[in-house]
Amino acid sequence: MDLFEYQARDLFAKHGVPVLAGEVIDTPEAAREVTERLGGRAVVKAQVKTGGRGKAGGVKLASDPADAVEKAGAILGMDIKGHTVHRVMLAQTADIADEYYVSFLLDRTNRTFLAMASVEGGMDIEEVAATKPEALARIPVDAVDGVSAEKAREIVAAARFPAEVAEQVADVLVKLWGVFVNEDALLVEVNPLVKTGDGRIIALDGKVSLDGNAEFRQPDHAALEDRDAANPLEAAAKERGLNYVKLDDGNVGIIGNGAGLVMSTLDVVAYAGEKHGGAKPANFLDIGGGASAEVMANGLEIILGDPDVKSVFVNVFGGITACDAVANGIVQALELLREKGEDVNKPLVVRLDGNNAELGRKILTDANHPLVEQVDTMDGAADRAAELAAK
Ligand code: GDP
Ligand code: MN
Repeated sequence: MDLFEYQARDLFAKHGVPVLAGEVIDTPEAAREVTERLGGRAVVKAQVKTGGRGKAGGVKLASDPADAVEKAGAILGMDIKGHTVHRVMLAQTADIADEYYVSFLLDRTNRTFLAMASVEGGMDIEEVAATKPEALARIPVDAVDGVSAEKAREIVAAARFPAEVAEQVADVLVKLWGVFVNEDALLVEVNPLVKTGDGRIIALDGKVSLDGNAEFRQPDHAALEDRDAANPLEAAAKERGLNYVKLDDGNVGIIGNGAGLVMSTLDVVAYAGEKHGGAKPANFLDIGGGASAEVMANGLEIILGDPDVKSVFVNVFGGITACDAVANGIVQALELLREKGEDVNKPLVVRLDGNNAELGRKILTDANHPLVEQVDTMDGAADRAAELAAK
């Protein structure tokens, strides 16, 4: 989960990283009072989950409260790379003498963590990395040893920070590593980390991405979720513990067991759809191994509740969970939904293969549900589901 700048700033403050005071608002008029509280001047910063806000006009200095109202009015509602600005942060202004870059991230390729640092921070670190790679130090960080004061000094030396800020930057790096580890982050980035005119080091802009796999031990992180932005179907699926992703422009609902099978189901449906008016998969849903009637009912309910879905393809390869159990799950799920008063009116194409496939097919045949139709092969079923969706 990517955080907004103001949320990253809060986490920085919690772990002792030096930041400037700031407040988030969502109306221009609110800028007046906040700017007064901040000492009469403020930086007005768009809160969107994308970089390059500065270049896009989403970061502006306001010289007095009235100016802050005007700047907030200009930035609120702005579109930055497809993200609408709903909130701005007003922050204390900094007297910037120098802009640096520092980050910690998970380096999957090298199976380690990585520290990156540069004295050429500011707006375009990607540009620095591309044109002057020697100006961006990359130091692996051992997962067990982490970033001690000594390791931090190694990073500072590699990036050639000026001597007068070396100790302060090293101290900030240790604290940022504290954010990274204690908050279970995948990325902690500060750009710019600034030196002020009076020689202080401050994190002026932060980007933090949290590891969703650590949710179970980070109870505070749920509150950081951006509920306004979440797709309502995805939110409902998440509440039920389902592995569901809504896809754009699709009309064939997909349910399968196992992520790999579901991924390839998306492909075959998209391929079959080329013959049927461009029918496309509407979602990813992996109901996993033990596909009980309840899990199946939850999955079907989410998918049937998607107004884009015109047909549903249930693609199951029986393994540890045998096909007869899945077939019973489907029959019971449809029954559960009917009892709940759900209007089940979209055709279901079911393909069962693998463990106990024959028994599973027989159960569905015997149930004789008017909306359920069986096709024995994956390609054939994909074709039929696409055809039904295009009708
Ligand atoms: P980004 O463009 O989305 O990365 O937004 P940043 O928060 O990094 O801001 C972009 C640039 O605006 C920074 O690199 C600074 O040069 C400038 N900036 C941000 N805050 C201040 C401030 O308080 N004072 C001054 N003078 N410049 C600032
Ligand atoms: Mn920045």
